[in-house]
Amino acid sequence: MRRWTAGFGRGNALPAFRGQGGGRGWINAGGVASWTSRPLVSSRSLHSLLLRCLPLVLAPLFTLAGAEVYSDKALRLEQIEVSYLGVSHARFQGSLSKKMVSRPFAAMSFLSLLLTLLTMSTPSWCQSPEATAPKASNGMPFPWNKVRLPEHVVPVHYDLMIHANLTTLAFWGTTEVEVTVSQPTSTIILHSHHLQIAKATLRKGAGERPSEEPLRVLEYPPHEQIALLAPEPLLVGLPYTVVIDYAGNLSENFRGFYKSTYRTKDGEVRILASTQFEPTAARMAFPCFDEPALKATFSIKIRREPRHLAISNMPLVKSVTIAEGLIEDHFDVTVKMSTYLVAFIISDFKSVSKMTKSGVKVSVYAVPDKINQADYALDAAVTLLEFYEDYFSIPYPLPKQDLAAIPDFQSGAMENWGLTTYRESALLYDAEKSSASSKLGITMTVSHELAHQWFGNLVTMEWWNDLWLNEGFAKFMEYVSVSVTHPELKVEDYFFGKCFSAMEVDALNSSHPISTPVENPAQIREMFDDVSYEKGACILNMLRDYLSADAFKNGIIQYLQKYSYKNTKNEDLWNSMASICPTDNTQTTDGFCSRSQHSSSSSHWRQEGLDVRSMMNTWTLQKGFPLVTVTVRGRNVHVRQEHYMKGSDGVPETGYLWHVPLTFITSKSDVVQRFLLKTKTDVLILPEEVEWIKFNVGMNGYYIVHYEDDGWDSLAGLLKGTHTAISSNDRASLINNAFQLVSVGKLSIEKALDLILYLKYETEIMPVFQGLDELIPMYKLMEKRDMNEVETQFKAFLIKLLKALIDKQTWTDDGSVSERMLRSQLLLLACVRKYQPCVQKAEDYFRKWKESSGDLRLPDDVTLAVFAVAAQNTEGWDFLYSKYQSSLSNEEKNQIEFALCTSQDKEKLQWLLDESFKGDIIKTQEFPHILGLIGRNPVGYPLAWQFLRENWNKIVQKFELGSPSIAYMVMRTTNQFSTRTRLEEVKGFFSSLKENGSQLRCVQQTIETIEENIRWMDKNFDKIRAWLQTEKLELL
Ligand SMILES: [Zn+2]
Repeated sequence: MRRWTAGFGRGNALPAFRGQGGGRGWINAGGVASWTSRPLVSSRSLHSLLLRCLPLVLAPLFTLAGAEVYSDKALRLEQIEVSYLGVSHARFQGSLSKKMVSRPFAAMSFLSLLLTLLTMSTPSWCQSPEATAPKASNGMPFPWNKVRLPEHVVPVHYDLMIHANLTTLAFWGTTEVEVTVSQPTSTIILHSHHLQIAKATLRKGAGERPSEEPLRVLEYPPHEQIALLAPEPLLVGLPYTVVIDYAGNLSENFRGFYKSTYRTKDGEVRILASTQFEPTAARMAFPCFDEPALKATFSIKIRREPRHLAISNMPLVKSVTIAEGLIEDHFDVTVKMSTYLVAFIISDFKSVSKMTKSGVKVSVYAVPDKINQADYALDAAVTLLEFYEDYFSIPYPLPKQDLAAIPDFQSGAMENWGLTTYRESALLYDAEKSSASSKLGITMTVSHELAHQWFGNLVTMEWWNDLWLNEGFAKFMEYVSVSVTHPELKVEDYFFGKCFSAMEVDALNSSHPISTPVENPAQIREMFDDVSYEKGACILNMLRDYLSADAFKNGIIQYLQKYSYKNTKNEDLWNSMASICPTDNTQTTDGFCSRSQHSSSSSHWRQEGLDVRSMMNTWTLQKGFPLVTVTVRGRNVHVRQEHYMKGSDGVPETGYLWHVPLTFITSKSDVVQRFLLKTKTDVLILPEEVEWIKFNVGMNGYYIVHYEDDGWDSLAGLLKGTHTAISSNDRASLINNAFQLVSVGKLSIEKALDLILYLKYETEIMPVFQGLDELIPMYKLMEKRDMNEVETQFKAFLIKLLKALIDKQTWTDDGSVSERMLRSQLLLLACVRKYQPCVQKAEDYFRKWKESSGDLRLPDDVTLAVFAVAAQNTEGWDFLYSKYQSSLSNEEKNQIEFALCTSQDKEKLQWLLDESFKGDIIKTQEFPHILGLIGRNPVGYPLAWQFLRENWNKIVQKFELGSPSIAYMVMRTTNQFSTRTRLEEVKGFFSSLKENGSQLRCVQQTIETIEENIRWMDKNFDKIRAWLQTEKLELL
């Protein structure tokens, strides 16, 4: 699945590349920016266990200590949970005590120990009623009490027949599952959610005379399971088929088998039905063994009316008329695959098709009025599929690949095997109206879903705890593939932005290791976060840089070949990688693994060999990332690693240690030097003394660097003098690292601000974007605190800093993709910040556009700025809204939607919230984005926060607890608060939700982020005020 991030993810609040969960978005409503954060790990079952049992255990303890335990119970429980998790990681490392010092929380180590013991041997008095004796919906005992299915019954093949009525919005079906058992059993447990089971039978034997016997059915809704009880045990080695007749209603909520609608050019509303099963919604369409490791083959039949067409994973084999007005489509049998990859769509879509060189038919499906926007994605899909077949050296195993644009879609896209599905704006490209970033976003999204056809579909993670094996890889492959197939997009330049986004959340104590235990559906949904996607991709990129591109590629080919149609864990990947590179470095055929090509300044590299597994375990099994501190003494370079974590001055001692593949260049040599740091400290010896040294070349490593003594001064001097001596990515990473260090008190805010002054001379997109990513959040925090004077000065400084670059921008679509994206963002910033030359020009453009009734073609890349200016008055806002209703271009609609949300009129903003949530004219799929934009609007944010609180239950029903959409909404409405009053408000609201949200990772994250904002402002605000008065700004 690709989350809701079309595009490269930075500045993701913009319509063209807004992020569902993506990192720090900056310019949005009102020129807004964010700090971001991401969820912490939360073991839901553990949490509920704690909630149930903790009072029993702790009450006496606290009573003894005279402490007021329960005045703020929820908060304490959250902290306890964090601490508990700290213990479990520390235990993993074999050192129990180290992590405990990370939080000053009295008595916690003792309590945590107690809790550990408690949960390890859950005593019977503490088990939930359902854990011991679950009761089926009819009151009978339910014979299974676990969330995971039993292992002794496995599916082999499914025959599915589904008949949906798009008028009554009901469907019914028959599922026949062939199963085998590995031990005699008379109960079969499988998943079913919101389905009415009419009848279940068991067919024994095969061939001509199978016998059938009825099965009793019990349902257990809390675990979304049913139990089928056979009169006699099923025996090992015999073939059995379970036959289930059932019915259901099309879901209204983007998941399972769900209803979608669209309006034709003539205003007619049409209905279609589509599926979204990942991670746990296949069970909403048919009863099944809905776990990724329970792979099977599928034969699918769909009944439909003649006016519709049906598509599914496999090509149509035949269509049979079974009654008047009813046709049954039979699709070819699939390859062996997981249930979450099954898909079918009933619609009146049109399609366009092309063949790949190897004979795979690729088609793009869309609503008839938009099929003329399908060509770009079709060409991209053909090119990318050919690339992957070649890169992976494994042919795409299906005869066809359909890409379908679905009018209602919660995430960005989904990789169903042979039938990938997309949000319309992530697939359809309007050559007339789409911007450069939209092209980039579509290419990346298609690339992501096609990479999944191998990573995820062919080889699947065994369980959702290793989701990153799917998502980290697909995210990473976006860059590997598109940099080859579409070199003009220069995606490699944007890669490190992903790592900064991931670090934003990974720097919080509430982060979690990439590989993290999860069990229930809400926990599983929480895995679809920046850590699985972005951090996963970043550590793969680091590994590739370390092993060399060829060795890395060989490793993954071996992995894919070895585990085709199977499931894997973390270690399977590392073993495949390790076997490519023997530790003695003797097999260096084709240059693989020959580290000698890297002229290392140290012998560490070769001596120690390549232990990929040990190295990568330090990145996947521990949360967070290292801060590497560099001290140069003559020719000696002292390096030291520690766990970078926000929340206090100085870096807490957690005992974490990483194997950090360091790279560096110096003033004397631009040849990349390498050094694997495996210990806490080490020393490198340079051949000669240098003026400056820059670590983490190209930001290929997932760590940040502090240069002690005059290290930062040398680098600041370099930027000021000849900034082009190092790459633009290196410049951007210096900006990022400097401000990260301010947060932990290692560098003063003044020094970081001084460093950024060089941006006056900068012209490249990534350093400029990084600068904005650091500076905009500062005034966003001030906006939330009524600090008008300094806020105004700061905004003026920002424009002054970039004025030369803004003035240089032409109001055209000329230039490379990155030049165009830079233009689009800079003009938007300038206009939103009311830079008069920009505003006047935008007003002029809008007047002409309006006079032509919107027919005049505006340059795509300035449209956003033009609309944002126009939306500031009622007349302009109303005209934009009228165009919104009739536009067939998703890009244009996104741009208008963005502009409408920048209004300073509270009534209009409230109306947008109400309408998008209702989903009539503005689709409900847009609601999270609109809420997020208004949450960043200086006058709108209290409305957004209020709307979220007042409608929480309905919002959760629609978007599901634990989903990336919910996390996005929570963060966007709250994580820029910077006052204690707001902090208490946020804590109070979420703790009042109890089971219905208080345990969410994103809640912990936002609380931690607000606390950090308060701390940061208390410490730095006066310094910023003083700095803004300094003379050096006069020189700008
Ligand atoms: Zn994905």
